[in-house]
Amino acid sequence: MKKLQPIRMCIACRSRHPQNTLIRLRQDDKEILAFDGKGRSFYLCNECVKNEKKVKGLVKRFKQEEEHFTKLLKELMNNG
Ligand SMILES: [Zn+2]
Repeated sequence: MKKLQPIRMCIACRSRHPQNTLIRLRQDDKEILAFDGKGRSFYLCNECVKNEKKVKGLVKRFKQEEEHFTKLLKELMNNG
């Protein structure tokens, strides 16, 4: 039997997807980290993670260091 996944929204493109297909991140004060069960979290879809323009937009939006942020996203995609 298929388990129904909750639907979550990607913060970059605002499209909705089942939670298990999204990458979950956490905002820790000023830094974006992989979600580890605490704090405020948000989601990104696979399309946006692969989209250089979208990633750059997020870097600006969250005032992240681009190299650090893209590395984090790559790690999360490989884990998924
Ligand atoms: Zn998206």
